[in-house]
Amino acid sequence: MIYMAVDLHTHTTASDGALSPKQLVAKAINCGLEGIAITDHDTIGGVEEALAAARGKSFIVIPGIEFSTDWNDEEVHVLGYFIDYRNSRLLQLLEKLEESRWRRGQKMVRKLNNAGLTVDWNQVAAMAENGVVGRPHVAQVLVEAGYVSSIAEAFEKYLGKGRPGYVPRFKLTPRDAVREVKNAGGIPVLAHPGLLKRQEKLTEVLTWGFAGIEVYYPEHSKEQTKYFNKLAEQHNLIATGGSDYHGETREKNFLGAATVAKEVVQKLLDLREGRIQWK
Ligand SMILES: [Zn+2]
Ligand SMILES: [Zn+2]
Repeated sequence: MIYMAVDLHTHTTASDGALSPKQLVAKAINCGLEGIAITDHDTIGGVEEALAAARGKSFIVIPGIEFSTDWNDEEVHVLGYFIDYRNSRLLQLLEKLEESRWRRGQKMVRKLNNAGLTVDWNQVAAMAENGVVGRPHVAQVLVEAGYVSSIAEAFEKYLGKGRPGYVPRFKLTPRDAVREVKNAGGIPVLAHPGLLKRQEKLTEVLTWGFAGIEVYYPEHSKEQTKYFNKLAEQHNLIATGGSDYHGETREKNFLGAATVAKEVVQKLLDLREGRIQWK
């Protein structure tokens, strides 16, 4: 029997996923999933295509996002479900984030040039097919130019903090992201809590207005899953889950590797519609 369920964490080519939204929906239907949430990094670019691909089928696509935020040098990811992806304030914010990435990319190239490396901005921009420039793209160009032999080495030698090509990035704080998700009518959920470096701070993080916590996640151990489930109960949070599918490159994170029952989606929806009281 195929286990029917919903994968609440997937990426498309709109950010750093391998499949287009349309391909992803087709694959999910093929896998026997009942639905997916599209949660690209800092963009809603894949949402409309995915919704269109599911139209007329008994398959649910949840418009979502995953914000990368910074909290004291710790990267905290904030998921937003059932966001109004046409919300003008949200769109403005996303534009600002994207712009700052471009500017950051250009700055990195300038700094590398100043350090004596021949790196061409157009080459970097071409790497970012979807327009979202990041350090991995610059790193790839450095590998191709023969300055380093791997992406990891590029970060170590040139792009990491304190290295000659490092440029800090404009980032939201987790609280900003929670606020922005709510402002766009969405439900904020803390992504993969098991990946937080400072686990002892988790209970503090959970007081920042999250409505859910991503309990089920391929990288979480059984013990972690159990513990996060307990936290969800204690803090009155919805326990969500998803695979963080990006393509076939991450073995553990295959599509459907972590899922939730449809009832969880209903809970998120009830919260959005105000049928459950908002904390
Ligand atoms: Zn993440
Ligand atoms: Zn993700």
